[in-house]
Amino acid sequence: MPRPQRSAEEYVRGIRAGDRVVLAQAITLVESARPEHQVLAQTVIQQLLDTPNSKPKTQNSKLKTQNSKKPNLRIGVTGAPGVGKSTFIEALGMLLVAQGRQVAVLAIDPSSSLSRGSILGDKTRMERLSASEQAFIRPSPAGDSLGGVARKTRETILLVEAAGYDTVFVETVGVGQSETAVHRMTDVFVLLLLPGAGDELQGIKRGIVEMADILAVNKADGDRIKLANQARAHYLNATHLLPPAPSGWAPRVLACSSQDGAGIPEVWAAMEEYWECVQANGFFTKNRRQQAQYWLQEALESGLRSAFYGHPEVKRQLAALEPEVLAGRVSPFAAAAQVLRSAGFIPLPPEV
Ligand code: GDP
Repeated sequence: MPRPQRSAEEYVRGIRAGDRVVLAQAITLVESARPEHQVLAQTVIQQLLDTPNSKPKTQNSKLKTQNSKKPNLRIGVTGAPGVGKSTFIEALGMLLVAQGRQVAVLAIDPSSSLSRGSILGDKTRMERLSASEQAFIRPSPAGDSLGGVARKTRETILLVEAAGYDTVFVETVGVGQSETAVHRMTDVFVLLLLPGAGDELQGIKRGIVEMADILAVNKADGDRIKLANQARAHYLNATHLLPPAPSGWAPRVLACSSQDGAGIPEVWAAMEEYWECVQANGFFTKNRRQQAQYWLQEALESGLRSAFYGHPEVKRQLAALEPEVLAGRVSPFAAAAQVLRSAGFIPLPPEV
């Protein structure tokens, strides 16, 4: 990336004005690993948080006002590769654009950094939605760890919301713990399923069904309608057996066709009901606060880790002690305590 040309104020002004070029550049700044970019990115985000956006983006302002009382919505979407996540987001996104919403689509795809080939990003995605002036689509950031990739996406949510996008999709493919990361930065979590096949065949990991607020059996069209209804009955049954969720919401199981649009308005209606439920019972706000707390802890832990391992004394001591530990001459615990002490991370014990 070239050196940043803009000041924090210029980024803030551009983002507030809905300038997509400036927004994209600010996201690149957030995604950059260079310390000076990180400092500037944090300044931009802080300035945006200090002065919340009161006025909607100019385009479609008439339509926009009818939605102006609704909160920003963050929607997580997961499901096995090929289940139809992009097609689903495009179909639902087009519906929301027609209602006057501004839609941003972000992604977390740790596979792109692990294998250098991305599962989500290689195909031509969401052509209709990306042609809309009310939509902004950004591929997954690259990174060497899921934590790093996820943190960048969490910050990017703040940027796109500041630019006036009131509906943010975060899409992920079930690699590593990426669903959990998406669940921790969104308000509602949608699991897409295929007609017919059970969990094992669909590659659905344990715990994912429990996280979902809405389960949608996609590709319920053509000769798959019967299979889709069977899958729906299966998951309806499975969700009935789950303990009540902290949100107070009982998960919905629906069938839809992202290809021809059948059932998509019903999925949206279920999401709206979900929001009404969690706003009325306070979970919406509570959940966002807990998420902020989680990301604070996460940032502290990863900051500590990199400060620690980057410390010259730590590097020196580790290089000296590791062979001793491997040879069994020093215990791993004594070695760890010595390294931590050498970097001042734990105080020296009192003299005896
Ligand atoms: P992703 O990997 O989960 O993002 O899946 P895609 O959205 O790329 O879709 C994978 C394939 O399934 C594509 O060929 C889509 O055209 C197709 N597809 C997606 N949704 C539907 C649907 O509702 N019905 C049918 N018949 N095909 C679909």
